[in-house]
Amino acid sequence: MNFATVELAEQDRVFAQELRAFLAAVVTEDVIARDRRSGENFAEEVHLALGAAGYLERDFRPESDGGFTPVQRRIFELEIGRAHTPWFHWGTTAMVASAVDRFGSDDLRDEILPRVLSGHYRLCLGYTEPEGGSDVATCRTRAVRDGSGWIINGAKMFTSNAHNAHFVFLITNTDPQAHKHQSLTMFLVPLDAPGVEIQPLRTVDGDRTNITYYSDVRVEDRYRIGPVNGGWAVLREALNVEHGTVERDDGGLQKLATMTEHALLLAEEIDRVAGEVPSDGRLADGAVGYRLGRGIARLEAALSSPGMFGRVAIAQTLRDITGDLMDIGGVAAAVPDGLRAEYLFRLAGPTGIYGGTLEVFRNMIAQHALGLGRPVYAAPKRP
Ligand SMILES: Cc1cc2nc3c(=O)[nH]c(=O)nc-3n(C[C@H](O)[C@H](O)[C@H](O)COP(=O)(O)OP(=O)(O)OC[C@H]3O[C@@H](n4cnc5c(N)ncnc54)[C@H](O)[C@@H]3O)c2cc1C
Repeated sequence: MNFATVELAEQDRVFAQELRAFLAAVVTEDVIARDRRSGENFAEEVHLALGAAGYLERDFRPESDGGFTPVQRRIFELEIGRAHTPWFHWGTTAMVASAVDRFGSDDLRDEILPRVLSGHYRLCLGYTEPEGGSDVATCRTRAVRDGSGWIINGAKMFTSNAHNAHFVFLITNTDPQAHKHQSLTMFLVPLDAPGVEIQPLRTVDGDRTNITYYSDVRVEDRYRIGPVNGGWAVLREALNVEHGTVERDDGGLQKLATMTEHALLLAEEIDRVAGEVPSDGRLADGAVGYRLGRGIARLEAALSSPGMFGRVAIAQTLRDITGDLMDIGGVAAAVPDGLRAEYLFRLAGPTGIYGGTLEVFRNMIAQHALGLGRPVYAAPKRP
């Protein structure tokens, strides 16, 4: 691994300065405080400003099509995180927009993409169902042909950002008799269609997500993404992006793993706690120094772990270290106060669940990275 400092060329230094000034102007203290209070992970004025300035489009497109260079992309990701930009909705929006770009009709692409890149349309994921989400291919939400369109009935759990989005990328079952991987069809369902209901759901960290219900929702066939009963191939690409298992670029600048933004928040908090401790003399207590040192070492290791390994290491480290940081902070650390250890402690649970649970990721590592074969859950045979 090459740990050399990247020397920025003049145009990249200017890019970083302009971006930092831009974010400082739009992601104000007020925006950050409102975001923490509401748990929305979204501020429309910030999103529209990023769209109007062309940042969303350059983030979405490859360099060959007017997008960021790899250095600019890295700077962009880091600065967005450092500014505490409400941001998680862009990951799902960009993921779904890529599926529309790749698998949608020309008409649909022309309708959706310009509005996504200007910030006016947001897109969310409708995968998980009340009966379970780890096995996304087991889908009960039904889509049935009706003349030139489809009628959809069902329910989805944890449809995050649906209340700030315009379309949901919905997995439907269009052939209940078929094998599950040959039964799926993907749709981009307008969230203002009659029959769609969005109900709020709070997670333990105070963030807002939703349950969405679909009752006789009529969708035109033009909103179908990919072939009928061929949704698994469409979905797999989007899942690979979400799981962080896509091919890495050659430059080594690409984000190492998904969810590094949470690890960067944790790094800020460890630095803050470590900075406070020496002044009150507690570092003389070897246990405090040991726990801080162990936390920093764990975090560095997590931040250096790529792909699925990094995804697991970041969430597990967040779970393991935040309790230590609260302990070191004492009683005061239990009082909710912005992006401090107390909030990160609550965030650690959901971080190991959404986008795939830690157990499922560990199985994927065992099976695909270590070649240990599929796990068997059958009861052991009696001798
Ligand atoms: C904050 C948050 C936001 C989310 N946002 C979205 C979203 O926008 N869109 C969306 O569609 N979903 C979203 N989800 C859902 C998320 O993807 C699922 O919660 C996750 O995939 C797990 O599914 P489940 O909750 O149904 O648990 P289940 O699949 O029912 O699993 C229950 C338990 O069994 C374990 N388990 C299941 N299968 C296996 C296995 N094969 N091997 C070992 N252990 C297993 C799991 O690890 C878990 O502990 C979100 C979830 C959260 C918490």
